[in-house]
Amino acid sequence: MIVLIKQGASEEKINHLVKWLEDKSLIVRKFDGQEQSVLGLIGNTNAIDKDMLSSLDIVDSVADTPETFKASSKKMHPDDTIINLHSGRQPAIGGGNFAIMAGPCSVESREQIIALADEIKTAGANFIRGGAFKPRTSPYDFQGMGAEGLDLLVEAREKTGLPIVTELMDLRQLDLFIEKDIDVIQIGARNTQNYDLLKEVGKQTKAAILLKRGLAGTIKELLMSAEYIMANGNENVILCERGIRTYEHDYTRNTLDLSAVPVLKALTHLPVIVDPSHGTGRADLVPSMSLAAIAAGADGIMVEVHNNPAKALSDGPQSLTPEKFAELMVRVNKLREAMS
Ligand code: PEP
Ligand code: MN
Repeated sequence: MIVLIKQGASEEKINHLVKWLEDKSLIVRKFDGQEQSVLGLIGNTNAIDKDMLSSLDIVDSVADTPETFKASSKKMHPDDTIINLHSGRQPAIGGGNFAIMAGPCSVESREQIIALADEIKTAGANFIRGGAFKPRTSPYDFQGMGAEGLDLLVEAREKTGLPIVTELMDLRQLDLFIEKDIDVIQIGARNTQNYDLLKEVGKQTKAAILLKRGLAGTIKELLMSAEYIMANGNENVILCERGIRTYEHDYTRNTLDLSAVPVLKALTHLPVIVDPSHGTGRADLVPSMSLAAIAAGADGIMVEVHNNPAKALSDGPQSLTPEKFAELMVRVNKLREAMS
């Protein structure tokens, strides 16, 4: 339910109303727009008498929200959310800030991640990505460097200043991620509907959460998963379109659903980024799909980059070399300039 507050209503009266609603076991999100304040009510609103609420002198109107997602709904928060990292590291994400997250699929060694961090930064990336805990289809494949991989990412961050994005697969690692001050915790496509994990990352507010779309997930399922995180207290959620499984598998690994970008941007105030690497599975398609993502209105891209893709321990075929990444960055900047 959305309560539109009249212009000029006193803070005291608004706070009184918020308290009254909270006493009815509702979560109340207050959004102060340029002209009016909006109260978004989350929870069971059946007990609320809509007519009574509408008749209050500070209330302009009351409307139901038919969507099942609430906290992430644009109706609750008409302006785009801008996520400022807890650590104070730059950049912010969303609301016109463009995120360029780049790095290897997996952290493989000190030499690899330190050298790559420098190269992607020089090319224009503003986040370093890399998996330390890897969700692999086969248990016999490289599973990631684990805690040591996190330490190497921290070292790369110290050297370059770039904030880290890295995947959390299991609740048991959450404390370690917090201890290492991981800036953005990625919830991967295989865990998008791991609700217990979503609840726990929602209970902490130190790290922002990058939530990937599920392997065959719908847009609504993605929003409902974001809702799990937000309903537990962490509002800093970034949505990521990373391709979904369709009938096509001869020529692309997944089908990158770029229409999800404008659909999500219309439905939610959360930042939306695109991962064309997992979205296509092919390095040669990453540049065109990165540019298409920008044209579609994405708030950022996440691109896998490896110093020697042929020897990568995971996702080599979809990884750009640092040189190709630098070429892509030139085109990204030109397109962003043309679009502004
Ligand atoms: C990754 O980013 O390396 C990854 C495993 O992503 P996804 O969950 O989208 O497959
Ligand atoms: Mn990968």
